[in-house]
Amino acid sequence: MIRFLFYLYIFIFGCVIGSFLNVVIYRVPNKLSVSKGYSFCPACHHRLFPKDLVPVFSWLSLRGKCAYCGAPIAARYPFVELLGGFAFLLSFNRYGISLNFIIHALLLCVMIVISFIDIDTMEIPDGSHFFILALAVGSYLINQPELSSILLGGIVIALPLFLIAWLTHGGIGGGDIKLMAASGLFLGFANTLLAGIIGIIIGGFYAACLMLIKKREGKSYMALGPFLALGISIASLYGPQIIQAYLNLFF
Ligand SMILES: [Zn+2]
Repeated sequence: MIRFLFYLYIFIFGCVIGSFLNVVIYRVPNKLSVSKGYSFCPACHHRLFPKDLVPVFSWLSLRGKCAYCGAPIAARYPFVELLGGFAFLLSFNRYGISLNFIIHALLLCVMIVISFIDIDTMEIPDGSHFFILALAVGSYLINQPELSSILLGGIVIALPLFLIAWLTHGGIGGGDIKLMAASGLFLGFANTLLAGIIGIIIGGFYAACLMLIKKREGKSYMALGPFLALGISIASLYGPQIIQAYLNLFF
């Protein structure tokens, strides 16, 4: 019971962080400060008070509408809050009370932010790469992995992506390449390879589905960032287990 309450507490804390991630996702591409100013309704600009900002519950109790103007509030807001909750819950479940828990939860939070900003703007802000680099340094100091694995992680997916971008003149965005380079330094060689494979397989599958449904013709763009971010998230939590399970199939 105590254990359950503790997990619940971690989850709710993550949802509150998720609420902040919504602010970051909205404000960074609009060049607004993430720390200054109060929250407001994007439709009527009415100031939002703490009772309007309780993660998930405010949205449910208002039935997805602004309390002041009745404008619909996208289901994406509570969804991001829930993702924040799961980021903390899964990291805690994997790493327990440790610095690794905090560092991995923060990495997942960056992945959430990157995914939605990439969906909105087709760009990944450079600041997020520096944030990942800082986490990579932290992870290196805590876990002291082999430096060669870390350096190989920085190029194993980023370099092929760079070559594809170069050969196709921008088929892949620079943000995706930088994302895999920075995250590779966090994950190390094997996990980065896994992250890239997961991201590219799921992204490719999604693109194929889009083509089948919409019969897209000519040049069409799709954000690859969210798929890479998903691959990075999965590899950061369960990479070694997935790789071991895969190897067990053959040996
Ligand atoms: Zn409003």
